[in-house]
Order: sequence, then C-alpha cells, then structure tokens
Amino acid sequence: MAKGSVIHWYRKGLRVHDNPALLAATEKINGEYYEILPVFVLDPWIVKTMRVGPNRWRFLQQSLKNLDENLRKIGSRLYVLRGKPEDVLPEAFKAWKVKAITFETDTEPYARERDERIETLAKKAGVSVIQKTSHTLYNPEAVLKANLGKPPLTYQKFLSVMNGMGPPPKPVMMPKNIPVGCLGYDAMKDKGSKLPGGPEYGVPSLSDLGVSEESLGPSLFPGGETEALNRLSKFTAKKDWICKFEKPNTSPNSLQPSTTVLSPYLKFGCLSPRTFYYKIQEVIKGQSRVSQPPVSLIGQLIWREFYYVVSSATPNFDKMEGNPVCLQIPWDVNKEYLEAWSKGKTGYPFIDAIMTQLRSEGWIHHLARHAVACFLTRGDLWISWEEGQKVFEELLLDADWALNAGNWMWLSASAFFHQFFRVYSPVAFGKKTDKLGDYIRKYVPQLAKFPPQYIYEPWEAPLSVQKAAGCIIGDDYPKRIVIHETISKINIKRMSEAYKKNKESKIKAEDDVEQ
Ligand code: FAD
Repeated sequence: MAKGSVIHWYRKGLRVHDNPALLAATEKINGEYYEILPVFVLDPWIVKTMRVGPNRWRFLQQSLKNLDENLRKIGSRLYVLRGKPEDVLPEAFKAWKVKAITFETDTEPYARERDERIETLAKKAGVSVIQKTSHTLYNPEAVLKANLGKPPLTYQKFLSVMNGMGPPPKPVMMPKNIPVGCLGYDAMKDKGSKLPGGPEYGVPSLSDLGVSEESLGPSLFPGGETEALNRLSKFTAKKDWICKFEKPNTSPNSLQPSTTVLSPYLKFGCLSPRTFYYKIQEVIKGQSRVSQPPVSLIGQLIWREFYYVVSSATPNFDKMEGNPVCLQIPWDVNKEYLEAWSKGKTGYPFIDAIMTQLRSEGWIHHLARHAVACFLTRGDLWISWEEGQKVFEELLLDADWALNAGNWMWLSASAFFHQFFRVYSPVAFGKKTDKLGDYIRKYVPQLAKFPPQYIYEPWEAPLSVQKAAGCIIGDDYPKRIVIHETISKINIKRMSEAYKKNKESKIKAEDDVEQ
C-alpha cells in the first residue's frame, strides 16, 4: 500500500452496501492502493440553522452510530470531523496526506454548490475527486440526456424514457475489508493531529446535536443500515403482499403502517434504492399476477426517481415563484390557520390525528399526507404549499428536498396533477378505512370516548353526548376552524380562476395518474 490516504466522504448514502463511491476508494487510484478514511462532517452551522426536528436528528445519530459499527465489522471506522466541510476537509487533506476524495453525487442545489467548492479546494490541494451516482436508480443526468436534455414532466413520459434506458445499474458488491494502514487513527493520535473535533472523531451524541430527550417521540423506526436491510428482508419475505401491492388500496389510518416505511432509510441512504429495486424484482420474477406502476412498489420507486430527475433540472423547484413547472396561485397568508393545522388543532379529528402522529412519530402514510396537504392548500385553508413543505421538512423523518416539494406541488394541483375539483373530505376520507375511528382515538385522546357516529364530526354531537364523552367541543377540543362544505366549493372556484390565468400550464388533466 502506498503512503497516503483516500477519504470517502459520507453525507447521504450512510451505508456500506451498494456504495460505489466507497468501493472506488478501495480500488487502485492512479495505479496505487491507499488507506481509506471514511469521514462524516458535522457542520455546527447546519446543526443550528437547518429545519430539522428532534426525531430526525435522532434518526441521523442512530444511522451514524450504526454506520460506524458496520465499518468496524470490515476493519475500519467512521471519523466524524466537526466544522465546515470547506475548512475541515482541506485540513484533513494535509494532515492525512490525502490523494483522493470519493463521494456520492448529490443533486440538491445547496449540496451541488458545496460539492463544487470542495472540488475546487481538492484540486488546489492536488487531491483527485471521484463522484458516483447511487442515491437514485439512474444518474439523473443520463435520464435528462435520454429525453433530449429536458425533464420528462409526466409519469407516463418518464416511464417511457426509463424503459428506453433499460434496467438500472445493479448494486455493487460490498467491500469485504477496508484496510487501515500507517496513517490510521492511532497513528494520528500519536502525532497529536490538530484536526477540529477532538482526538476521538466519535459519533456525535444527541446533545451534540442540540436534542433534549424530552423533545423526542417514540423511536418507532430507528435509523441505520442494519435496520433498513432487516426491514427490507421482512417485506420481501411477504411475496403475495409485494405482488399485489397497490398504493391507493393501502390505508392512511391503520394503527400499524400499511406501507414499507423504508422512506427515512432511502432519504439518508441507509438503504440503496437499487438494492430495494432488485430485491423486489427477485420477488415478482415469474409471478403471473403482479401489480404495475404507478401503483406497484416498483412504481413507488419510480415516483421517487421522477421527482429527483425533474428537481435536478428545474430552477426554484421548492418555490412557487420562479419555478417554471409550478402554477402561480394567489394563496392567502393566515398565521392562525397555519398554526392550527401544524399543531393538530383544526377541529377536524382526522386532520388533527394525522398532524399529531407526524409531530410525535415523524412518519405518516402517503394518503394521510394527501389529506392534510389538500386541506392546507386548495381544499380548505388556501395556504401556500410552501408553508406545508416547511412544516413537513421539520417534522418528517424522511423529509427529502425533491420529494417533499414535488409532492406538495402535486397535492396542491400546482404541478403534475391538475384535477383540482377532486377535493378530499376531511370527514369522509378517513371513514373509508377506519369506520370506528380507532386512529383518531389514539392520536386525539380527548375524543376517545366519542361514539363512532360522531368521532369524525364531534361538533355534530349533542351536548349530552359531549358531556358523557368528557369532552366539550370548543373547550376541551377546538371547534372546526372552517366549514369544509362551504369553503371547498369557494376554493374550487379560486383554483379554476388561477388555472385560467395560467393558461400556458404545460400539462393537461388527462396526463394525471394516481400516486
Ligand atoms: P412505500 O409506499 O413503501 O414506497 C416505497 C418508497 O417509494 C418510499 O419509501 C419512497 O422512497 C418512494 N415513494 C413512495 N411514494 C412516493 C411518492 N409519492 N413520491 C416519491 N417517492 C415515493 N416522501 C419522502 O420520502 N420524503 C418527503 O419529504 C415526502 N414528502 C411528501 C409530501 C407530501 C405532501 C406527500 C403527499 C408525499 C410526500 N412523500 C415524501 C411521498 C410519500 O408519501 C412517502 O415517500 C411515503 O409515504 C413513504 O412511506 P413508505 O416508505 O412506506 O412508502
């Protein structure tokens, strides 16, 4: 092994399996093998300023801890550096005699800018930069190229482009051993390395991340690659379930999740999307009756891919203004309504139960997201999807820049979906899958004793029933903030006006498909 080292820089992609950039670090670089230093940079500025709630910090902390454990199983470890990547990486380049840095390509705008800065600094220091795509099934640039440089703006178009490209690359093998050489951690300690972060370079604690134990909800979906792969195995063992999976037939309000809850693991890259994709392919291979995209499980991964590709080529994708795919809608500003929605105090038990589950547990079902997103925007409160996006960004374990913005535009009928006259009822929708209201009883315990006939509409209950249930509407649980039956009709008209004003809207309603 030659003198010097290679940094594998972890950001997302917090895994050892199917990690082409990590694998590249183990291969010959400029004709030589080098010692490998897996690094995560904890930027205190990001810790202070990013919109991340305590549950997601915990998920990250758990994922880093598990990554360190998994790296140790193959002879290495994780080095956590504290500071701005632009400061600590150049220092590491010098201290560790770094010859190359490898990392997974990230298409989010802030990450792209950061990576460009690091690339420049690396080149200045004579460090080669090796980037690999593994956060998505395909390289988004390749998909754009296959569609003549433009993002395909409908799911069907996207599918046809993807089909033309052939299957995505297969997952790469996991390194069996990551060699530690003369520049390893112990040697650095002996030399009294001055890199920021102290001599231990250990995984941060929750308090390092500014998280107090009291602010946390239950840890129902612990972070980490090991948990992700176990979860995937658990689901792929259910052959029949995978083959018949149709997203619209899953339930938004079951007490146990009716979909995989692999999203937080995909978001942080604890799970490789290609591993997920090929495991499902193995399960459905040779089966005669298999559900199809967009509603199948493979179809869900294609939704993810779709939003990644479109967002990578659309300016201001997470905003309405300056976003060429987004309808311009004159939303209201209403702090009171927004607060009621985000804190689960709208007076609509189904909506409040979902928002309470989100705040406490960090994950809610896709159709539950539909219900609350429609309610906040075009359905009832007429508040911008950007406000909802911010709340989701803080509270979701799986908060993902491309998926969050893309789905909010979809739900608010601002892009990708245009049947704005199809509005979810905050009363009837939940009843379809939970007549007795058990989900509401769990997340809005004030209403637990309401009889099933009033649980979705407690304002309809006679005072005697409210008294018997120990919950007076207006005192113990809020009165509903809007009358859905009236406001939704007004809002449909407002949407219709907005559509007329945005006549140039590129996609027609007949292109819409169900998510
Ligand atoms: P499954 O049904 O098991 O699907 C498997 C995987 O496919 C998911 O883990 C996810 O990676 C992907 N997927 C599924 N549905 C979608 C979809 N509609 N769009 C893109 N990818 C999808 N998902 C996020 O991961 N992060 C977000 O920030 C996010 N914000 C959303 C905001 C709104 C308003 C809405 C309506 C949806 C949002 N989604 C987001 C999409 C979707 O709700 C979640 O991906 C899904 O519910 C996660 O649960 P699951 O892993 O059990 O999904």
